[in-house]
Amino acid sequence: MIIDGKQISQSLKDAMKIEVDALAEQYGRRPCLMVIIVGDNPASRSYVRGKIKATEYCGFDGHLVELPEDVSEATLLAEIDKLNNDPLVDGILVQLPLPKHISEDKVIAAISAEKDVDGFHPENVARLWLNQHCILPCTPKGIIELLDQAGVEMAGKKAVVIGRSNIVGKPVAKLLLDRNATVTIAHSRTKDLAAVCREADILVAAVGRAKMVTAEYVKPGAAVIDVGINRTEDGKLVGDVDYEAVLPVAGAITPVPGGVGPMTITMLMRNTIECFLERQILGKSYVQKHFQLRKFLIDMDINEQKYIPQYLSHYNSIKCTCSQLKRKCCGIWKVSKRRKKHGISEQNEGTYITRLQ
Ligand code: NDP
Repeated sequence: MIIDGKQISQSLKDAMKIEVDALAEQYGRRPCLMVIIVGDNPASRSYVRGKIKATEYCGFDGHLVELPEDVSEATLLAEIDKLNNDPLVDGILVQLPLPKHISEDKVIAAISAEKDVDGFHPENVARLWLNQHCILPCTPKGIIELLDQAGVEMAGKKAVVIGRSNIVGKPVAKLLLDRNATVTIAHSRTKDLAAVCREADILVAAVGRAKMVTAEYVKPGAAVIDVGINRTEDGKLVGDVDYEAVLPVAGAITPVPGGVGPMTITMLMRNTIECFLERQILGKSYVQKHFQLRKFLIDMDINEQKYIPQYLSHYNSIKCTCSQLKRKCCGIWKVSKRRKKHGISEQNEGTYITRLQ
């Protein structure tokens, strides 16, 4: 089976487009993503174009901030600070790599963790590894979504991730672990890499070496996710996997282009919506937050034929009566007199949405 990332990502974007219109109606504004690019690196320019195109497609407010190659670190940090403090900005992305005179670590840490749609801020990284609610990095999040959409079972399966970078290898390994796979992270010092990979039911290649993963790396029937983006001498885009050779062996495989790449951008859109919602619903004072969330839970009762949008993916839906919900989720849901106003009684059965953490 070919896992068609392009088609999956298109249908997710179509769904988000509807969600964004609904959000704009409900909150009077659209999610806003600001993308900062420094200099004229052609690859960066092309990635940024794709991101801005996706924001336009999904109906976001999105803007590009272009800074010259020789911009000082202080000016870039001041620009980020301005966006951090702008209440109408939900997500900030600084396109990497940055020119050598600017510290990427400093820049990533300067973005407010709540607006860090790339999921690279140290606070989001720490929260990921501590199993706390966080913004997930886009490529790893997209890989899990692809596996889910392709119906690939992860629990109890052996997964091998080739590559241990902070933006792909390590976080995707953690997400596979969270889905109860038994995970091995391989890298340039791994001995007999082909034999290690042949053990895998799920093989993720995030190396950056054209067609390195040949058929002898792949267990028959395995799901193979190719993250690599490499240019051959004749200018062709290829992955880390020798697609033609592996296709007959793998049970499922992502192509390059048209696999992980489009999903990365789509997950960036998803993260922006989630940041928007966090700020609209939860980014208030403690009292406002709980009042709004409570009202929101009532509004989302699907007995009233309201649909549950995808941006609530990190929320949990529970089918139960109102009084059962009160017991399960005390702290978040406190049934009050207000409930009567909304016509909800203790025995009202419905699907209620609660935050996971
Ligand atoms: P990095 O260069 O940061 O990491 C590459 C990893 O591969 C390192 O951990 C390195 O090991 C390992 N590696 C290198 N050579 C070998 C080898 N011969 N055998 C085994 N492991 C090896 O890359 P990224 O993680 O940033 O990206 C990986 C690829 O994915 C690139 O092609 C990149 O363009 C692409 N990419 C695609 C995205 C998408 O949206 N589709 C998004 C992000 C990246 P060691 O640590 O030992 O050096």
